Amino acid sequence: MSTASPRVTAAADIPASSAMTTPAPIIRLEQITKVFYGEDVETHALTEIDLEIRPGEYVTVAGPSGCGKSTLLSLLGLLDTPTHGRYQLKGQPVEALSFKERARVRNRTIGFIFQSFNLIGDLTVAENVELPLTYRGMPRAERLDRIHAALDRVEMAHRAKHLPGQLSGGQQQRVAVARAVVGEPTIVLADEPTGNLDSKNGALVMDLLQGLHESGSTICMVTHDPRYAHRATRTVQLFDGRVVKGEDLVEA
Ligand code: ADP
Ligand code: MG
Repeated sequence: MSTASPRVTAAADIPASSAMTTPAPIIRLEQITKVFYGEDVETHALTEIDLEIRPGEYVTVAGPSGCGKSTLLSLLGLLDTPTHGRYQLKGQPVEALSFKERARVRNRTIGFIFQSFNLIGDLTVAENVELPLTYRGMPRAERLDRIHAALDRVEMAHRAKHLPGQLSGGQQQRVAVARAVVGEPTIVLADEPTGNLDSKNGALVMDLLQGLHESGSTICMVTHDPRYAHRATRTVQLFDGRVVKGEDLVEA
C-alpha cells in the first residue's frame, strides 16, 4: 500500500544501516587492571575488566564492599588512571590525552555524584552548581540561566544563596545532582548516591537519575540498594576486582 516516494524520503532521512545497528559504545574498557602500591602491600583493586556501555544505557554496578566499585567509577570518570589496559571514551583512547585534554573531557562529558556530596562548604549552592560552567569560560548570563534551570530541576532554586552546611543531607545531594548535570554531560557517574540519605531523600535522588536516563543521559551508578537496581537496563556484578556477571534486565 505504500507508494515509492515516502519510502525514498524515509530512506534519505534515516539511512537503513544506522537505524538497524546498535550504537557504538560510549565507554569501552579492555583488560583494565588497577593496582594500588602501598608501603609493603599491593592491592589488586581491578583485574582485567572488559566493559562496554552504550549511549543511553543505565548501568548499575553492584558487589560487596571492597570489590572495586569506586575504583571502577573513578577510572571511568577520569579521576584516576589504570595500571594496565585500554579505555576508550566516545571512541577516543583516554591514554593519549594530555593532562589538559583530560580535564576538558571530564568537564564536558562527565557529571559525577558522590556518596558524601562533595560540595564546597564556603561556596553558596548557586556557586557550587556554577563551578563546572566557570571552568568552561561560559558567559555570565548563560551561566545564570543554566544554574537556575538545574536548581529548578532538583527543586532547590529557593536555596540558591544558602551554604551547603545549612542544608539537610538530602538537599545537599540534590544540589550535587544539579552540579553534575548543569553542563549537560553525556555521562552521569554516581557512586552510592543514596548511601548517606534516608529512604525518602534516597527515593528523590533516584527519581532524578531516572529522569536523566529518560531524557537520554547515559548513567553508571554504584548502588547497594536492591530497590533501585531494577530501574537500570543492566547490572554489572563485581567480585574481588573482576566482573562476574553482566545481566540484561530489560531491552536497552
Ligand atoms: P568498593 O567501592 O567496591 O567498596 P574500592 O574500589 O573503594 O571498593 O576498593 C577496592 C580495593 O582497593 C579495596 O581493597 C581498597 O582498600 C583498595 N583501595 C581503594 N582505593 C585505594 C587507594 N587509594 N590506595 C590503596 N588502596 C585502595
Ligand atoms: Mg565504594
